[in-house]
Amino acid sequence: MLTKESTGNAYDVAMENFEAAANTMGLDEDTRQMIKCPERVLTVSVPVRMDDGHIHRFEGYRVQHSTARGPAKGGIRFHPQVTLDEVKALATWMTWKCAVVNIPFGGGKGGVTCDPKHMSRGELERMTRRYTSAILPLIGPEQDIPAPDVYTNSQTMAWIMDTYSMTKGYSIAGVVTGKPISLGGSLGRNEATGRGVFYTVECACDHLKMPLKGAAIAVQGFGNAGSVAAQLFHEAGAKIVAVSDSTGSIYNRNGLNIPELIQMKTMCGHVEGFPESEPILPHELIGIDCDILVPAALENMIREDNAGTVKARIVAEAANGPVTPGADRILESKGCFVIPDILCNAGGVTVSYFEWVQDEQHLFWEAQDIYKRLERVMKTSFRDVLKIHMERKTPMRIAANILGIGRVAEAVQIRGIYP
Ligand code: NAD
Repeated sequence: MLTKESTGNAYDVAMENFEAAANTMGLDEDTRQMIKCPERVLTVSVPVRMDDGHIHRFEGYRVQHSTARGPAKGGIRFHPQVTLDEVKALATWMTWKCAVVNIPFGGGKGGVTCDPKHMSRGELERMTRRYTSAILPLIGPEQDIPAPDVYTNSQTMAWIMDTYSMTKGYSIAGVVTGKPISLGGSLGRNEATGRGVFYTVECACDHLKMPLKGAAIAVQGFGNAGSVAAQLFHEAGAKIVAVSDSTGSIYNRNGLNIPELIQMKTMCGHVEGFPESEPILPHELIGIDCDILVPAALENMIREDNAGTVKARIVAEAANGPVTPGADRILESKGCFVIPDILCNAGGVTVSYFEWVQDEQHLFWEAQDIYKRLERVMKTSFRDVLKIHMERKTPMRIAANILGIGRVAEAVQIRGIYP
């Protein structure tokens, strides 16, 4: 496993991306000062009685980067490598992402530094509830709306919703998204990120006149985002030639049977050992011979030291921040078409927005309505970013940032400064 020191600091990456876009669009210094840094940063101490009776203190965070365009919106991550800087970076990306897909939310993010794979369900529930109590002054359906992220899921959201509702005295579904359907969750939310990735890859293939059918695809990270995207690519006739998770990586040049692989991952928790596949080393997946590479795990996976090995024509960033700025320059020089994270994986927050709207209205939509609306949002956003990319002859990442940062800048300029 790569350490933070060897992979770079995600917040530095977020700031570098911001400056690159701000310089290209000629953003004035006053506006930069108003939109660059997080509005609120909260660090909390989370004591939990563990199953063996001792008390363990976890550290948790909630960051609201911007509420200029609406309530802060962003997931909660449970992972051993969660740091405040990582959460600040993820919150910053959420601000630009919500603006890119033009939904009325700002950006936020939360996390607890913990190892959920080595915690019991009871320990996870107690930690989630105590963390929720600690961040309670910040969250709410009109203030800041958490959602699932790495190693959190609909059950985690149900515990957050229940804890919040108990302290208020009545049920408040809109405080989180990504909830179970029975608690006011939305149809299609679970698959939304992967589905959004799929729509943007379809657009990129159209733009590059490259058929998706028969394309060879490698997916790094076979969790929620990666496995759903892989399933949709498989259904569209593409070949998923390589897949990895935190325990191992597998390869089959003729294509893996994705529905069966999803079954195995659900039952056994890993992809390694899948029939009709050969194991490969984790670093080999990035440089595998394929047309489309989908990093869907964590930040900083494609760096200066391995970007040169990438053979794919399209890199679709399902994960947040998987490509470092140095690697970006290498991919650009190789003519690789990068669909940046704040566009590529925005399907999740878009359907989260639909979920929040449904909760507020107490009126729920059919799955087909949600897919249609999601497709429209993703494809419109892709076209908006592509237009800036073509007109300004700037990489897709800078183009997406120009769109997102420009919308946030407009909001703060119109609102002005209080008092
Ligand atoms: P997840 O926990 O469901 O899946 C993460 C997967 O990555 C797991 O299969 C894990 O084993 C694998 N992984 C971890 N470290 C790895 C490594 N070093 N090499 C290969 N695989 C590794 O999480 P997710 O929700 O799918 O999130 C994945 C990424 O997508 C994150 O960057 C997240 O921020 C981003 N994202 C998720 C959503 C969403 O709605 N789930 C929305 C937007 C962005």
